[in-house]
Amino acid sequence: GWRSRAAFKLIELDDKYHLITKGARVLDLGAAPGGWSQVALARGAVSVVGVDLLPIDPVAGAEFIQGDFLEEGMEQRLEALLGGKADLVMSDMAPNTSGHVATDHLRIMALAETALAFACDILAPEGAFVCKLFQGGAEKSMLDTLKLRFRTVRHAKPPASRKDSKEMYVVATGFRPG
Ligand code: SAM
Repeated sequence: GWRSRAAFKLIELDDKYHLITKGARVLDLGAAPGGWSQVALARGAVSVVGVDLLPIDPVAGAEFIQGDFLEEGMEQRLEALLGGKADLVMSDMAPNTSGHVATDHLRIMALAETALAFACDILAPEGAFVCKLFQGGAEKSMLDTLKLRFRTVRHAKPPASRKDSKEMYVVATGFRPG
């Protein structure tokens, strides 16, 4: 079984946008407890590497690093484990919530922008990026970068994402290295 309810969100996004290609190298930012990594492997990814602040129980076929994705040297470690540039970078990262709506909004958007910058460094040409965002979608600066670096940019709220939750996802495909 899947380790997380979140697994169904990636399944729905992948059914619609075909993000996980056979033989793909997939980077999972904020991977704990491992549901998205399980889905990536089940759908034909050959190399799946995840990072999270929290420890993750092993998933056969995946490699996990415990730490902050922004730690010094993390990009090199992840790329080495992947065996090359990533075909898909997925981020379901969420910051700890403060309960203060505006603060939480700012934190999740900052995390998403940082994940995008990270993805732009580690993606292979034509790669894809899927990232959790807050209701309203990407803000202008992030959207500008997305449109510059990816051929297609869409926003999606998968049915498995609770209606009362303000999360949504941005799905960008056709990465163009700068
Ligand atoms: N997609 C996962 C699954 O299906 O199992 C669920 C991910 S969970 C919603 C979000 C995760 O992001 C948390 O485990 C949290 O620890 C992680 N996270 C938040 N900020 C992070 C950071 N700076 N570096 C690494 N992981 C982070």
